[in-house]
Amino acid sequence: PIVLVTSASGFIAAHILNTFLDSGYNVRGTVRSIASAEHVRQSHAKYLDRLSFVIVEDITKPGAFDEAVKDVDGVIHTQSPFWLKVENNERDLLIPAIQGTIGILESIHKHNSRVKRIVITSSFAALTDLSRGQWPEHTYSEADWNPATYNEAKVGNGAFAYCASKSLAEKAAWDFVEKNRPSFTVSTILPPVVYGPNVHHIRDLAHLNESSAMFYSLMNGSRSDVPPTGFWAIVDVRDAALAHRIAYEKPEAASQRYFVTAGNFSFQQICDILRSEVPELRSKVPEGNAGELLPPVYKVNNEKAQRELGIQFKPLKEIVVATAHNFLKLEKIL
Ligand code: NDP
Repeated sequence: PIVLVTSASGFIAAHILNTFLDSGYNVRGTVRSIASAEHVRQSHAKYLDRLSFVIVEDITKPGAFDEAVKDVDGVIHTQSPFWLKVENNERDLLIPAIQGTIGILESIHKHNSRVKRIVITSSFAALTDLSRGQWPEHTYSEADWNPATYNEAKVGNGAFAYCASKSLAEKAAWDFVEKNRPSFTVSTILPPVVYGPNVHHIRDLAHLNESSAMFYSLMNGSRSDVPPTGFWAIVDVRDAALAHRIAYEKPEAASQRYFVTAGNFSFQQICDILRSEVPELRSKVPEGNAGELLPPVYKVNNEKAQRELGIQFKPLKEIVVATAHNFLKLEKIL
């Protein structure tokens, strides 16, 4: 079988490629340029015989995915801009997130009735209500929805607009299915902050994806203080990727959302783990209030993902140590 993965050059997508390729699938990736395809070929060199590419330069153009979806059996749609510092919320976040999602569903609906399952990378951003802050009495689960509207998102700050881009794109997908009754079903995967090894092509450590850049800033000596934690839930990139494949394969995952998280965390906890578990980093990682417990914050419920997808989430310490060792390795080779 052949699975299409959009935005194959990304941080999470690289692991999604690995889990499908390791399981014997053929994968077609969409990329925005020939150079990007070449980078994915290099990072996934051991699978070249089962990896192919289609260039989709602009996901907001009508019919952008028409060619890409031809003859595939399933689709994993990861593509959505994830930047918190943007110039124009609509152009840089909302339009690509929403139009890209509707666009790929339309292309499949029109051109490929073979596709039975589409898995979309949504986010904890689609659950969270930013106006509630730490909301200690609440437990986030798949039952929640970020209430931000398009008009609020147009004028909000970058983080607010990014979160809204994810909830509005996910809602657009569920609306599409309800309205068009296509021959495929959709499942959505909602990871919170994703850390873990970077296995995709990286130009240099100054050009990391948004979440990896945040983690790296805690260990590269650039901070004297522990920054305030923005989102209090974490998942390992390998678990997030695996969730996409299992949701793709399981008939019961049809029409379901899955909040995939290892649990709560804070930047203070990450710094504590880095300082105690990776001795060579001790002098570079801010000390902050070492040993400080998690403050009262919302809880997160991953029971559905554990039960229905069968995922045992890697715990915080393992995620932090693996991420740090990967960056130490990259520092040597980049
Ligand atoms: P990356 O930043 O690594 O992915 C970037 C990818 O998006 C690249 O393939 C890039 O293509 C492409 N891209 C960048 N800007 C645009 C744009 N304007 N239009 C179209 N494509 C664009 O992202 P992640 O792996 O972190 O994220 C992948 C998905 O996971 C996204 O949907 C994101 O919302 C979601 N997610 C991520 C979390 C995280 O903590 N990382 C948490 C929760 C959800 P190119 O190589 O051509 O530049």
